[in-house]
Amino acid sequence: MSRIAYVNGRYLPMRAAKVHVEDRGYQFGDGVYEVCEVRGGRLIDERRHLDRLKRSLAELRIRLPMSPAALGIVLREVIAENRIGYGIVYLQVTRGVARRDHAFPTPEVHPSVVVTARALNSARNEALAAAGIAVVSVPDNRWGRVDIKTIGLLPNVLARQAAIERGARDAWFVDKDGTVTEGASSNAWIVTQAGTIVTRPADDAILRGITRTVVLEAIKTLGLAVEERAFTLEEAYAAREAFVTAASQIVLPVVRIDGRPIGDGKPGPVATALRREFHRHAETGRA
Ligand code: PLP
Repeated sequence: MSRIAYVNGRYLPMRAAKVHVEDRGYQFGDGVYEVCEVRGGRLIDERRHLDRLKRSLAELRIRLPMSPAALGIVLREVIAENRIGYGIVYLQVTRGVARRDHAFPTPEVHPSVVVTARALNSARNEALAAAGIAVVSVPDNRWGRVDIKTIGLLPNVLARQAAIERGARDAWFVDKDGTVTEGASSNAWIVTQAGTIVTRPADDAILRGITRTVVLEAIKTLGLAVEERAFTLEEAYAAREAFVTAASQIVLPVVRIDGRPIGDGKPGPVATALRREFHRHAETGRA
């Protein structure tokens, strides 16, 4: 079965799904995106993802291309067309197509919208979570507004590639003060030797992950100790546990950072419990 993508009002087979060469997303990275988990054919946390999309668009002064309800219909249609049971759906909105000029087009053009979906292998993801992942640290050399989910991801691309070349799966960005900001495509967490869960506050230095928000709710419901504060790489090396969160992988234990085992070098009970609890706290949409 050919994969189907939504491109500016049409549902097309992947090979026919094309955008204009002067799309500002292509030329300037002038756009934003969202990735949502699909589970049992249903969208997870649609409302929170679309709220964040609205915020990202507003920060860049890109018009909302259609109502959140209409976007939700497109997301569900792409999930259904591609018969995704378990996987992810990707939504990208750019400022639109215009003759190349850095300044915003005048008159304003209609934003471009692309939606794709793909199945993930549940058994493979569970095996990854059961084994835990290795991460490496890299300098955080990104711009000052990484709280906006823009498609301009070059530092993240290079960080992830560096991780793979060093035998790891993800990279953790470290700022000039030696504190961990976040993963290349995830939020970063540790559990201290005293058992406190620590993650960086959602300021301009990180993306406010939807998974992060839901995990914080789960932590509070479970009555676990949590602190939203910056933590250093040294603290992470000495942590009892570490883990990352992202919509595509929920909670993934980190068992090695820069080649050093974390805790006993195995996935810890806190990360494992939060992974198990996550969907009790996330919002599951209709099929
Ligand atoms: N931080 C970065 C840089 C990301 O790219 C992502 C997800 O892609 C996240 C954090 C996690 O966000 P979410 O939980 O909404 O997927």
